[in-house]
Amino acid sequence: IDPVKENYVRKVKNCVFSIAYPTPFKSRVHLVAVSKQVLEDILDLDLSVSETDDFIQLVSGEKIVLGSIPLAHRYGGHQFGIWADQLGDGRAHLIGIYMNRQGEKWELQLKGSGKTPYSRSGDGRAVLRSSMREFLCSEAMYYLRIPTSRAASLVVSDDAVWRDQFYNGNVVKERGAVVLRVAKSWFRIGSLEILAHYGELDLLRMLLDFIIQEHFPSVDVKEPNRYLGFFSTAVSETAQLIALWMSVGFAHGVCNTDNFSLLSITIDYGPFGFMEAYNPDFVPNTSDDERRYKIGNQANIGMFNLNKLLQALNPLLDPRQKQLAAQILEGYPILYDTRFRELFKAKLGLLGKSKGDDDLIAFLLHLMEKTEADFTMTFRQLSEITQSQLQELSIPQQFWALKMISKHKLFPAWVSQYLLRLKSNMNDSDSERRKRMTTVNPRYVLKNWMAESAVQKAERNDFSEVHLLQQVLRRPFQKHSAAETAGYSSPTPSWAKDLRVSCSS
Ligand code: AMP
Ligand code: MG
Ligand code: MG
Repeated sequence: IDPVKENYVRKVKNCVFSIAYPTPFKSRVHLVAVSKQVLEDILDLDLSVSETDDFIQLVSGEKIVLGSIPLAHRYGGHQFGIWADQLGDGRAHLIGIYMNRQGEKWELQLKGSGKTPYSRSGDGRAVLRSSMREFLCSEAMYYLRIPTSRAASLVVSDDAVWRDQFYNGNVVKERGAVVLRVAKSWFRIGSLEILAHYGELDLLRMLLDFIIQEHFPSVDVKEPNRYLGFFSTAVSETAQLIALWMSVGFAHGVCNTDNFSLLSITIDYGPFGFMEAYNPDFVPNTSDDERRYKIGNQANIGMFNLNKLLQALNPLLDPRQKQLAAQILEGYPILYDTRFRELFKAKLGLLGKSKGDDDLIAFLLHLMEKTEADFTMTFRQLSEITQSQLQELSIPQQFWALKMISKHKLFPAWVSQYLLRLKSNMNDSDSERRKRMTTVNPRYVLKNWMAESAVQKAERNDFSEVHLLQQVLRRPFQKHSAAETAGYSSPTPSWAKDLRVSCSS
């Protein structure tokens, strides 16, 4: 097969995948980092393999595993609320499905590996900074116990890639990078939308049945109501996923339907951000002028996207099933609220149920918003401070986020409500509470400035900070001395105050 003939950009009809070959880099390729856990636990590889030339050739797209036919996936999607028609893997190649020793199947995908039929006007490449952010964050999310794609390796070449980082007409030379990422499945809402849009209903049914068979063990693929079972799972898992994002202050940044997984895992890390000062209007992506994907709107966007999923399923449903599906969707806000409440109660160490729990949570978030207290560190420091220190309102200096929020005149009122509520925890002690809270409130998340600092070094081929971040983010709930020295639990340094990320990648 001639890669050049296969990879030309075109409009594709009546298929789910196109054969597409990665385009090797022309210049030298450097291995930036690997995830030992993904290599060993998912891909059954010994870490030492990553030092071989074979490995680098494989993960940079230079060599294809014998017998594999690499593919690019055809999908569509709604981008910023508007139907965008054919999108597809414009710079990603599915290089195979691997079944590991545990019998799990994992889809291996290269990202940044060159043009495909779906590249539209793009160059098929990804730059180092965005690839690093995806590599680090997807792994970090996994260790925060949030469903996500994983990343196995990151390479960078010396090939030039031209990008306008801030859409200001300033095109700069960057370097092309490739991430080998893995997921149980890369299918998205947009994978179904394109088939429904073009009336390719046999394919739509075939693809859905395949996805149900492979990934939805609780749904019987022979059942006439299987699509309802599938949709119901998607609705509850999406609610769960977005509540989890909110619980760590994660804003995805580009919640288009083509970036929303049918398995409700976090995929397509672009201009994401972890919120620092608590602010429901936080928008990580500077290109999002309408602030559509601000953090406080993500739950609503989940509803919008599930509605688009339902529209794609509609051609396969009879009138009664359509009615039931609409009811399932109506249940989404309650599922989301329930999960959000559970997660935030755990973040505050609350056991059992009390009428005032929602108010207690909302009150704290309000104080955080007013005082611009750091989201991650406020919850973490509440997990570390003792009840008696809180009671006396004598906040030690190291609890800088609590010091900030305590400037609010209503803070003492919140503290007394909180302490009163903790008294209603059955069979609890303060050390138990703190232990519990430190296992759900991370001390380290990948704040933008940390990624940026590591990127600046990596641009000079110094990958030490990438490796440090990997180590730290693998145990985000544990204090790590090198992380403390690096300031990862300290206030954001002043140089980083005006950092921005756009969707240039
Ligand atoms: P994203 O906003 O990153 O989810 O990308 C939306 C669509 O644009 C997807 O189909 C991507 O594959 C495609 N795309 C983004 N960047 C490039 C690029 N540099 N070359 C080709 N396709 C791209
Ligand atoms: Mg995408
Ligand atoms: Mg992207």
